[in-house]
Amino acid sequence: MLLANDNSLFVNKKLDCCTVGRFAPSPTGALHTGSLVAAVGSYLMAKHRGGRWLLRLDDLDAPRQVPGMAEDIMRTLELFGLQWDGEVTRQSRHVEEYQRYFKLLQHAGVVYPCGCSRKEIARSTSAPHIGDEGIPYPGTCRVGIKTALAIRSWRVQVPEEEICFSDLRMGCISQVLPVSCGDFVVRRGDGEFAYQLAVVVDDYLSGVNQVVRGEDLLSSTPRQIYLQRLLGFPQPNYCHLPLVTGPDGAKLSKRDSLLSPHVSTGTGREQVLLLAVLRFLGLNPPQELTGAACHAILQWGVIHFTALQLPVQGGTITI
Ligand code: GLU
Repeated sequence: MLLANDNSLFVNKKLDCCTVGRFAPSPTGALHTGSLVAAVGSYLMAKHRGGRWLLRLDDLDAPRQVPGMAEDIMRTLELFGLQWDGEVTRQSRHVEEYQRYFKLLQHAGVVYPCGCSRKEIARSTSAPHIGDEGIPYPGTCRVGIKTALAIRSWRVQVPEEEICFSDLRMGCISQVLPVSCGDFVVRRGDGEFAYQLAVVVDDYLSGVNQVVRGEDLLSSTPRQIYLQRLLGFPQPNYCHLPLVTGPDGAKLSKRDSLLSPHVSTGTGREQVLLLAVLRFLGLNPPQELTGAACHAILQWGVIHFTALQLPVQGGTITI
């Protein structure tokens, strides 16, 4: 569904033939091996197609930002030879754009204010089933927010139909939004824009046509595709990468395996880790690359990368 077709905001930026990929870390902590996999995977896939690789810092959630982390992330990427194209962008500087697209959704009548707290949502569902995102929002405020209630968020109405897309590694993925999450939040009561809206607007405005990221974000993708359809944006290709787990099998958190305190130029640890990441992504780097500089390892990876070799399962990375 297009919201409008005579509004200049909706004239699709033509996707040029060049692949545009990106890495979009949140500077809430230093990179860990899991985020390095996303960075390397998105880099190799974009460069294998002769494309551009952008770096965007997802720094919208101000209270969660850790001072100095943006610089730490950039320095770590550089240590691994992961040089981005163009200027680094920051979500905190794009608030006017989010506001503009949010207004368009409002004018189209697909967004409504919601006064429900998490507790109320849990209580209002008689037989709560847990969707991908916890208890799906039952749509209480769709018919209008009770006048006494403060606005806690703005939600976008979701349709009953299935949202399907083809993931380059995982194949056909489908989700029925009312079952998985219900009407979802695009803006918080304090005015902050939600990740789902911000990421869709940013990827569109920067011409990203290839989104490569961890499988932990797979369940967000149908919501993002739905927003793209509402706003008339082209849909990028998606590839969700296997997750790196700790020895206990749990997904790595920001506290695990932080890279920056351990890697520094000259120790050779970056090269060993980079080779391990290539192997994790299903590549088989030759013996001669042992001891090679990061840029040479990446160059080899760029030539040999193929999404077909990506493993079905994630696992640990040990060096
Ligand atoms: N900023 C998000 C994160 O660090 C990733 C955004 C994305 O790749 O869409 O988890």
